[in-house]
Amino acid sequence: MAVLETLWRNDHAAYLVGGGVRDALLGLPASDWDVATDARPERILAVFPGGTYENRFGTVLARGLEITTFRREHRYADHRRPDSVTFSDDIYEDLARRDLTINAIAWGRRGPAMAARLVDPADGQGDLQAHLVRAVGDPSRRFDEDALRLLRAVRIAAKLDFAIEPVTWAAMVAHAADVEWVSEERVGSEVRDMLTLDRPSRAFRLLRESGILTTVLPELQALVDAGGTEGHDGFERSLDGLDMAVAAAPGNERMAWAALLGESDSGKARAALERLRVSGRDRDAVCLLVDQAPVEYGRAWSDADVRRYMGQVPPDLLDDLLALRQARAGASGGAAVELEAELAERVLAQRSAGSALTLAGLAIDGRDLQATLGIAEGPAIGVILDRLLTDVIEDPSLNRRVTLLTRAGLILDDLAQGGPSRPDETGME
Ligand code: ATP
Ligand code: MG
Repeated sequence: MAVLETLWRNDHAAYLVGGGVRDALLGLPASDWDVATDARPERILAVFPGGTYENRFGTVLARGLEITTFRREHRYADHRRPDSVTFSDDIYEDLARRDLTINAIAWGRRGPAMAARLVDPADGQGDLQAHLVRAVGDPSRRFDEDALRLLRAVRIAAKLDFAIEPVTWAAMVAHAADVEWVSEERVGSEVRDMLTLDRPSRAFRLLRESGILTTVLPELQALVDAGGTEGHDGFERSLDGLDMAVAAAPGNERMAWAALLGESDSGKARAALERLRVSGRDRDAVCLLVDQAPVEYGRAWSDADVRRYMGQVPPDLLDDLLALRQARAGASGGAAVELEAELAERVLAQRSAGSALTLAGLAIDGRDLQATLGIAEGPAIGVILDRLLTDVIEDPSLNRRVTLLTRAGLILDDLAQGGPSRPDETGME
């Protein structure tokens, strides 16, 4: 690797460290490489002129890699961030401050005269072979120092499908409540990473078993506490649906959130998403999915019922909604799966018929109403368009300009008389 070569050539010790080495030793594709070196930041910048110094992380970004000076970290008064950091010349000191043995393996050399080798003082390789997640050093102290490590241990154990070594696990259970020290934003980003694992249920089960869940996602803990039949409570149902949703749509974050939170209501889901700093747009989408996914489909639905249901979510969310419904049905098993397949087919048929489901699909718009019926801009326009859409969803053949303008005139008269006007305007049950 060119960055290492350059540092070595300049008489520096430089090593690959962290998750990249871990994943490479496991034969997994490495997501990112971190480089650790005895060169101080200003020195790294001198060696890599185009680099940028990220003061907040004490890391230099050069040639797309994060290069960090060996360091010691001192006292963690807030259970999260070291009070001070000092640079070190020693890779061993740098490895000792790392969280897990499997993350504390380095590959590299001290300088041009040496051969590159693995440096593995905590026997991370042994734990890689044994499929164990183990804290470096005294687990209780390490989690006490930095509560983020609790979430990292869970996430990495779930990602690799490793067990957590018993002493490390006991320390995690003892320190579970410390996650309250981790910023909600940071918790959110860890939980988001857990959601995109191959089998995310593993992570959430570890969160529950360790007691971390209570602090991180009390909404899910409530499902556990509410209990259920034969150990299959709302929490377990969520996790089954979540695994299926992720398998059906890998990388689809809002579907994963909706599957995870779908067994509680959208009010609770919204609170959780806000707390974990999920973006407003995703939040709205997830809440719509949480509200609409449980709506029960039956063979008795008319085509108009199908169209009305489709109209409950923006068109770009419809596929997610169907996929989520299928994941939930798969998790509960039985006849639900066939019913969902039927609904999906009917939705596709409506879609390919080009039926209008939103105002944008109507053959006229607000401007037409103003121009043709002389209605002034104002709330009446919206009311009329909404009613027209309801009619068109009921009977798509009405979606023609002349027809709609005529009906709009009638609705306008109705409104002028202040009448209730439309006793037949019932929503879908
Ligand atoms: P991944 O990138 O797959 O999520 P990673 O282990 O590479 O996992 P990073 O956040 O990239 O995670 O961190 C790089 C390395 O920094 C880790 O492997 C670990 O050695 C160290 N590290 C990260 N966070 C902590 C922490 N809170 N405490 C101690 N060491 C940490
Ligand atoms: Mg990494």
